[in-house]
Amino acid sequence: MTLAKLVAHGLVEENRSLAGMTTYKFGGSARWYAEVATQADLEAVAGADSVPLVVLGRGSNVVISDRGYEGLVLKLTGEFNDITLEDDVAIAGGAVALPRLARTAAAAGRGGLEWYVGIPGSVGGAVVMNAGGHGSDTAESLIDATVYDVFTGGFTEETSEDLDLSYRHSRLGANHIVVRARFRTTARPREESEALMREITAWRKEHQPGGTFNAGSVFKNPPGDAAGRLIDEVGLKSLRVGGVAVSERHANFFTAEDDASAQDVFDLVQEVQKRVRIATGITLEPEIRFIGDFGESS
Ligand SMILES: Cc1cc2nc3c(=O)[nH]c(=O)nc-3n(C[C@H](O)[C@H](O)[C@H](O)COP(=O)(O)OP(=O)(O)OC[C@H]3O[C@@H](n4cnc5c(N)ncnc54)[C@H](O)[C@@H]3O)c2cc1C
Repeated sequence: MTLAKLVAHGLVEENRSLAGMTTYKFGGSARWYAEVATQADLEAVAGADSVPLVVLGRGSNVVISDRGYEGLVLKLTGEFNDITLEDDVAIAGGAVALPRLARTAAAAGRGGLEWYVGIPGSVGGAVVMNAGGHGSDTAESLIDATVYDVFTGGFTEETSEDLDLSYRHSRLGANHIVVRARFRTTARPREESEALMREITAWRKEHQPGGTFNAGSVFKNPPGDAAGRLIDEVGLKSLRVGGVAVSERHANFFTAEDDASAQDVFDLVQEVQKRVRIATGITLEPEIRFIGDFGESS
């Protein structure tokens, strides 16, 4: 069935604003948009037309163009929000919010995922990005992820090695959708996990620009160094383009004001990249992902 027909069936929407679905809270509309709650809906929508496709998790690592996205934006919901705990394994749908996973496991006396409490992403986003922090990363706890391949229409179970997980990297491309993941957990008294989560939350409040619109670390850390340290060293804290500025608190966070645009983030990323390259010879690689058309300023 085509996307146009799926619109008639109420499964797909046209021209849906995406701004509220990202932590930056700006960006344009999706030409086609669908929330899929079941495997059957996922297969029906993802396989419908050969238009560009992007899966949106909790939008905490993306910047969506002010001009929107001329393709299909797909969001997992429904059964993809389920969490099941079985002995030393936590099974979570691709849409599950990481802090919820951490707290659910902790409440059941299962530890190892507490650090997810500070990451405002989803399980699918964490697998794709190999999200990490506080001395751990997704690869460390992941048993395997169930991945739907839009090209073949098939599901595969892939381990960290299969996914080629390394620092903020996986082999997954635009045709892959992470529908579920299984994580290893260890027995840990609930109070211990809760204390750990309080510590992590307090650390984040102290070191990161909380209460602002941002998408976490803008650049990946280059080998042996920290992107924030380099940006600070070059004197770029508070550098601004439009409504977006390099954070005073953590130079690898770019915070946005109410009147900011996605283009401002894109332009500031280019500017910081250029200045750091000129000053140090190092080319910083963005960690945040840009969706849609940027290029010339609008
Ligand atoms: C305040 C703040 C702090 C942060 N701290 C950290 C940190 O400490 N460590 C860290 O690693 N990251 C951090 N991040 C970044 C971000 O939270 C992580 O990268 C997270 O894993 C992204 O998940 P998401 O669901 O928001 O993905 P999105 O931003 O929605 O998408 C990111 C990418 O993953 C893809 N994707 C999302 N879901 C799926 C899916 N189900 N299947 C296939 N592809 C999918 C998207 O297409 C996109 O390419 C932080 C962000 C913020 C705002």
